[in-house]
Amino acid sequence: MRRFTLPRDIYYGRGSLKALRSLEGTKAMLVTGGRSMKETGFLGMAEGYLREAGMHVVVFDGVEPDPSVETVMRGAEEMRRFRPDWIVAIGGGSPLDAAKAMWTLYEHPEATFEQLCVPFNFPKLRERARFAAVPSTSGSASEVTAFSVITDYKSGVKYPLADYEITPDVAIVDPDIAVRMPPTLAAHTGLDALTHAVEAYVSLQAGPFTNPLALKAIYMVYAYLPDSVEGGEAAREKMHYASTIAGMAFSNALLGICHSMAHKTGAAFSTGHIPHGCANAIYLPVVIRYNAKNPQARRRYAEIARGLGLSAGAGEDEDELVRALCASIAKLRGKLGVPGSLREFGIGREEFEEKVGEIAARAVGDACTGSNPQPVTPEGMEALLREAYAGTEG
Ligand code: FE
Repeated sequence: MRRFTLPRDIYYGRGSLKALRSLEGTKAMLVTGGRSMKETGFLGMAEGYLREAGMHVVVFDGVEPDPSVETVMRGAEEMRRFRPDWIVAIGGGSPLDAAKAMWTLYEHPEATFEQLCVPFNFPKLRERARFAAVPSTSGSASEVTAFSVITDYKSGVKYPLADYEITPDVAIVDPDIAVRMPPTLAAHTGLDALTHAVEAYVSLQAGPFTNPLALKAIYMVYAYLPDSVEGGEAAREKMHYASTIAGMAFSNALLGICHSMAHKTGAAFSTGHIPHGCANAIYLPVVIRYNAKNPQARRRYAEIARGLGLSAGAGEDEDELVRALCASIAKLRGKLGVPGSLREFGIGREEFEEKVGEIAARAVGDACTGSNPQPVTPEGMEALLREAYAGTEG
């Protein structure tokens, strides 16, 4: 038996933030990040709509990028004091992820992060509150997914939480809110969405309900991401939907080792954080070439390439189609000004050599490795990371 889970309602379209007026409840806690939602006025609008719905509203702000266990604990504590029956998260992937974890600990104060880290092992939610999510970036798709990543800065451990209990009840995909993304953020988050869709399409958990969503999201990213990065409003709108569509696919089909590599290298080097979508964009062609050793994955990559119209140059040979797909991703990445290798990103060779063995071992152990179509050993993973360090032309 398989399961396909999505929010009960996905409101979308310009101005759809208004849908908050239709939520039925008495108390809402709004969870958000730093200043951007406040400065752009969307936080105030959200508060206003919730008040129009007759709710008492409290704001929990200041959720940091890569939210910490402490922030989650603080948020859960405030929820226990205020007793909301709606939790409304608005902002980038981080406040959405943090709010999902706060919600869980609000309903189950006895739960520990160690317990919640066991995939698909959550206690029942919705006895106290329901959850609405409003994304301001077009990539993580946390508004429709069963995932949340919380970081324990003391131990340096990232807790990847996964359970359909934390799939939001309501997603509001309002492109007006994504129009303000700076170009680099639009590029990185858009490439994250592309990676979600490609990994979901070849995942061992892919199926008839996720495949059309994954393919559609890939085509939309190719059609609209460059214009969206340039600031075109119509393209921004399409990318906002593409990200959610990719999320609908990968929340149910899961991901693969490109994400395993991005998770374990994101904060590993002294050069500073590698933005998640940037890391994915560097690794994706490397991973496609590796996974294409698997005949089923190869056939599926070839299908993507054909769908993108790459067979005109590459012909019908699957290997050629896979090569053309990798080259086209490298070309898209380059066009958006995203580096093509870890070296080009600025990571020093010495530090890379020093850490690559341990990172490879940790990446193999990442939650995303299990659904990758081709098995990988720590040695194999190290080879992939070396390839990503040096860079290839696609
Ligand atoms: Fe991602």
